[in-house]
Amino acid sequence: MPDMNEKNTGSPGESLDFIRTIIEEDNTSGKHDGRVHTRFPPEPNGYLHIGHAKSICLNFGIARQYNGLCNLRFDDTNPSREEIEYVDSIMEDVRWLGFDWEERLFYASDYFGQLYEYGVQLIKVGKAFVCDLSAEEIREYRGTLTEPGKESPFRDRSIEENLDLFEKMKAGEFEDGSKTLRAKIDMSSGNINMRDPVTYRIQRSTHHRTGDKWCIYPMYDFAHCCSDSLEGITHSICTLEFEDHRPLYDWYLEQLDIFRSRQIEFARLNLTYTIMSKRKLLQLVEEKHVTGWDDPLMPTISGLRRRGYTPESIRAFADIIGVAKRDSIVSIDLLNHGLREDLNKRAPRVMAVLRPLKVVIENYPENQAEEVEAIINPEDPSAGTRKLPFSREIYIENTDFMEDPPRKFFRLAPGREVRLKHAYFITCKSVVKDEKTGEVIELRCTYDPETGGGEAPDGRKVKGTLHWVSASHALDATVRLYEHLFIVENPADAEEGKDFMDYINPDALETLTGCKVEPGLAKTIPLDHFQFLRHGYFCTDSDSTEGSLIFNRTVGLRDSWAKMQKKKNN
Ligand code: ATP
Ligand code: MG
Repeated sequence: MPDMNEKNTGSPGESLDFIRTIIEEDNTSGKHDGRVHTRFPPEPNGYLHIGHAKSICLNFGIARQYNGLCNLRFDDTNPSREEIEYVDSIMEDVRWLGFDWEERLFYASDYFGQLYEYGVQLIKVGKAFVCDLSAEEIREYRGTLTEPGKESPFRDRSIEENLDLFEKMKAGEFEDGSKTLRAKIDMSSGNINMRDPVTYRIQRSTHHRTGDKWCIYPMYDFAHCCSDSLEGITHSICTLEFEDHRPLYDWYLEQLDIFRSRQIEFARLNLTYTIMSKRKLLQLVEEKHVTGWDDPLMPTISGLRRRGYTPESIRAFADIIGVAKRDSIVSIDLLNHGLREDLNKRAPRVMAVLRPLKVVIENYPENQAEEVEAIINPEDPSAGTRKLPFSREIYIENTDFMEDPPRKFFRLAPGREVRLKHAYFITCKSVVKDEKTGEVIELRCTYDPETGGGEAPDGRKVKGTLHWVSASHALDATVRLYEHLFIVENPADAEEGKDFMDYINPDALETLTGCKVEPGLAKTIPLDHFQFLRHGYFCTDSDSTEGSLIFNRTVGLRDSWAKMQKKKNN
């Protein structure tokens, strides 16, 4: 587990991670004249998730650190799964995280013409051929990890014939799947990726940018390295599963004799209680286990944003976890720890009663109200103070009262006195119950007018301090509380016969209506952050309006990460 103090930013004097070490070596040797150029290359087939955020912070962060550039490039070579909605959401998410690709927005599909020419070039140097084997036959011929593959019977077609067939593939003369262009490498290679990999396939589907212009599409491995090269990417950073593809990446660039970008792999981010795959996240959306990609339960960037995570806390998290060469799983408590630290500094404190119980203060005049002063954020004196209305009828949290309290319960009970935060001491005199159910529906209390500053002049102490709102001034609100979306730490690692869907937490969302919040929240807008005293950090939901307030709990107050660290250090 990473240590909070262990940073990988590579500022002077700190030890560098392995990627930055490579970059500094290249800068020292003058390999690219000190130029550093990275890219973030999402496939627009879903919304970005927190794993992508790590990659974004890494690629844009490195560019920033070394005075370099970082491109945003949509890897849109698979027309059947890609949509404009995803392209738009990805741009919004990268910007929200605080990064800017300036004028360098690219699409792999912009290079389709050039990539076709590269295909022709490979044929001309005898390094590619048109193959008539079906997808299934290609798979059969490929061999296994322990057995070499078999050469395609079409491997020795002449250059002229290959050029002619490739052109006809492009012109739409062949059925989908009936022919492919394959690289001619080595069917006995120990690396299966090098066994004459498919470079182009025929697929008639409308592309979100190029429409029906093309019926042949380049494969990812070919398109990706060529796109990197065309953009002059110096360091092409990707996740570990592409390590075995690197020889092919290098092979294509070498055969084509074009700019040699360098691929560097790092371990993808895994988070506890989370899944991190667009395909699986799409399944959650399609099967309506969540309300959409931006459901606050989702580990998508848009879900985290709506939930109330801040870009600062996500960037800091990416920084702290750093990059590694080996896969591991990071505790979501670490992400939430940083989030709390960030929100603690800037979230205004407000009073919100989530499960209201009415309190009538019998000795407070009817039709009277006053304003008490309350500090906005004790961590940030510059935030100042606000005025809170106080009156004869207030709401407190119904869990703050017990008729027959156990020994350690220090809040309100019959005959007991407590402090109302920023206001007076009150004492519970009697209880009103629902005649039918016996449920406590109202408390009758008195207040001590001498305790306005929150202290009694005679020095008497009270053990409990409660939050509250004035009943006639409070606003109604809906509040959503969240638990982990999954009930196990690693839902991706399902036991036999199960899959991640079997671990969905049916109680992940609890919606509370009829909550009461202080009147200052009337004009709140989506993405505003607050600390609801004693309840945690909350964020105004994107569907919230002035007449119908909705808040999402971003994270509770209890910091299990900090607690665990403390225990470890003792
Ligand atoms: P998914 O399996 O979730 O669809 P992907 O790798 O297929 O992920 P891409 O759109 O191809 O998604 O990813 C864009 C970039 O983000 C790639 O460079 C990829 O390596 C990186 N990336 C994706 N998931 C993670 C992760 N969990 N941690 C770090 N980087 C990631
Ligand atoms: Mg992918």
